[in-house]
Amino acid sequence: QNNLRTCFMGREIIYLPETASTQIVAMEMARKGAGDGTVIITERQTDGHGRLKRLWVSPQGNIYMSFILRPSQTEISRLIMAASLAISFAIQDTTGIMTELKWPNDILINGKKVCGMLVENDIRDGQVNFSVVGLGINVNADMQDYPELKDIATSLINHTGKPVSREKLILSFLHEFERLYLDLNEHGKCVFEMWKKRLITLGKEVDVTSGKDIYSGIVETVASDGSLKIRLADGNLVHIVAGDVSLRHA
Ligand code: ATP
Repeated sequence: QNNLRTCFMGREIIYLPETASTQIVAMEMARKGAGDGTVIITERQTDGHGRLKRLWVSPQGNIYMSFILRPSQTEISRLIMAASLAISFAIQDTTGIMTELKWPNDILINGKKVCGMLVENDIRDGQVNFSVVGLGINVNADMQDYPELKDIATSLINHTGKPVSREKLILSFLHEFERLYLDLNEHGKCVFEMWKKRLITLGKEVDVTSGKDIYSGIVETVASDGSLKIRLADGNLVHIVAGDVSLRHA
């Protein structure tokens, strides 16, 4: 912790060798009043999940962590932008690898997922009480070992060929995440612009699943709250917010 260059992000670290899901532990701790910036870190998850309750494969060697934060109403829509950029910067600083951002919550290397993210908000009386930002970063596990993920997932070691220091990566992430998170209030527009620049989803053909409906179209714009506008084949424009959709790049 001597190497930590943050004021609150990761100042309180709860380390668990194994847990079902860091997200569940963090939600519970947040409800009990754990401080802002508290992070739960584990070596492996037995029941990790992504969005829409999808399984997150969580073997030893990677990073699984969940942050407790209490963002303001203005910060909330851009929380995922700050976290995505922080991961992207930390990976670049630690390994030199450039990543791409796929809307709304994936970090890719050459089109394959190296990190998944999940933001869950606890809402009380219409206000966000707290948010938990969960991250799974594929670092030193060989993702080629998983037949169902071989074509869509990758890890840092799959690119560097040698183990990557998880400590360095986490320290760099904490530093970047705190800086960007604090920027959300006064320089939120700038964080949005940086995020947008790295977003590979703009102009792409996508399939969007929302409930039982599937729309196909081209992503035309991304609004400053992170929502998308998709032009359908029939010319209609649909407005998509992250929460309820799944996206497939054609
Ligand atoms: P999509 O993967 O279609 O873009 P999504 O971004 O919403 O959807 P998440 O819910 O965030 O996906 O993550 C769950 C999905 O990610 C799983 O369905 C699986 O395809 C994939 N996945 C699971 N574990 C890993 C992992 N360790 N690394 C990369 N991808 C994974």
